[in-house]
Amino acid sequence: MLRGDLSDADMEQYVQERVITTTLDRAANWARGNSLFPATFGLACCAIEMMSVVGARLDIARFGFEAFRASPRQADLLILSGRVSIKMAPIVRRIYDQMLDPKYAIAMGACSSSMGVFNNYAIVPADKFLPVDVHVPGCPPRPEALMHGILKLRSMVHSDPSMGWRERYGAERTVEVLPDEGEELLRSSTEEPAGA
Ligand code: SF4
Repeated sequence: MLRGDLSDADMEQYVQERVITTTLDRAANWARGNSLFPATFGLACCAIEMMSVVGARLDIARFGFEAFRASPRQADLLILSGRVSIKMAPIVRRIYDQMLDPKYAIAMGACSSSMGVFNNYAIVPADKFLPVDVHVPGCPPRPEALMHGILKLRSMVHSDPSMGWRERYGAERTVEVLPDEGEELLRSSTEEPAGA
């Protein structure tokens, strides 16, 4: 377009229709929220429902989430699709710790959210051993419900990357904390700041 081709008002409208301004943080969150890589990981019956979200009917590839990764080091979303036993919890936590930061977790189904029908000593809810961002209710949740949970997570990533819980629980970083370090962290987080 040559200078003078548009009058001032038309030029104003031309620019408004074609130029987007944003911040680097917002652009990074937009990209991050639209390219979640779930870990290829299933725990129980809910996993069958989870698998179907990559099929033609729901097709999460539409949103950029289809690349289920076989290595936690290439994944940033852990879908806990089923019940977690106390024996299994440290292994699940280890997988979560090996994932890329920033990373997210979805508790899919009643079992991983609240122990479900297995209300006994062997099962543990996911919140007890890792920070869960979204809970999807149901037994099992339909694939549409999981899709809804994933899209909820996407909107949380877009609008507020810290998502509240990281600050509430002092959960920045997710390195494993040894017992003596844990006590020290707890003490420092509960101490009154100087001059308060
Ligand atoms: S919530 Fe229901 S479907 Fe999912 S793992 Fe538990 S028993 Fe199975």
